[in-house]
Amino acid sequence: SELEAKVHSATAELAEQNEKLRRQALQVEQASAAKSQFLANMSHEFRTPLNAILGYTSMLLQGVNGEMTPQQRRNLQRIDSNGRHLLQVINEILDITRIEAGRMPLNLTDFQLPELLQEVMAEMDPIIARTKLTVGSHVTPDVPELHGDRQKVKQIVLNLLSNALKFTHEGSVQLSAAYDFATSTVSISVKDTGIGIAPEHQEKVFEDFQQVDSSPTRVYGGTGLGLSICRRLAAMLGGRVTVQSAIGQGSTFTLHVPWRMRRS
Ligand code: ADP
Repeated sequence: SELEAKVHSATAELAEQNEKLRRQALQVEQASAAKSQFLANMSHEFRTPLNAILGYTSMLLQGVNGEMTPQQRRNLQRIDSNGRHLLQVINEILDITRIEAGRMPLNLTDFQLPELLQEVMAEMDPIIARTKLTVGSHVTPDVPELHGDRQKVKQIVLNLLSNALKFTHEGSVQLSAAYDFATSTVSISVKDTGIGIAPEHQEKVFEDFQQVDSSPTRVYGGTGLGLSICRRLAAMLGGRVTVQSAIGQGSTFTLHVPWRMRRS
């Protein structure tokens, strides 16, 4: 019948559309993989000469080749700090491409949060010592042993803590961890009394290369990639990073991760 013929041709058309979409999705996927590979190669190729530049700069700054005039020293210090900034951008892009290309596999172990936070604090101690801030950490006693990717949790917390220290001029930075029985979620917070983030910037700061102050005269260093890496790492852990903040009062960044039972 005529109706049957119509249904038949509509079905055929749908199948064709479907096939076309599938091919397009595959192309997008291949293009994206090629892009990641290109970025990964490029970052790697940039790193080797840059490390040489930084090596020689540091030798000169140490006075290995004799004394310099104050002007020469100042200029060399500018080369050094710009070089370091570039190296950080490259390393962070490399991290992002590794994550996007699926080349940063999950490595699950059992670990305790209090130890992890102590380790993070110890690693940041040289930077903490240069501030006048009160820095502490607290884990509620009911937080269970975790089964997860310790290295990734650590990288996220290190990043959040380093931001908190950078954007806080007085007061305190507090690390804390708690367990929510209702949702089986562990939350690790970094709370600071720093400059804060306006509501309209609070989502943006998680995007690639986004900084609240990106002017050429900006006071704070950084690349604008730290939080976007945190966001990606948190997603790999099945969790997310949230922010609560008020201008001039401070910010609290929180990593929420689902608590998993160890598979025995
Ligand atoms: P970076 O710190 O390298 O600039 P991030 O992605 O870590 O990059 O952060 C992006 C931006 O978010 C920062 O430039 C800053 O404007 C804002 N930000 C992040 N953490 C804080 C914080 N604790 N307090 C105030 N602003 C913050």
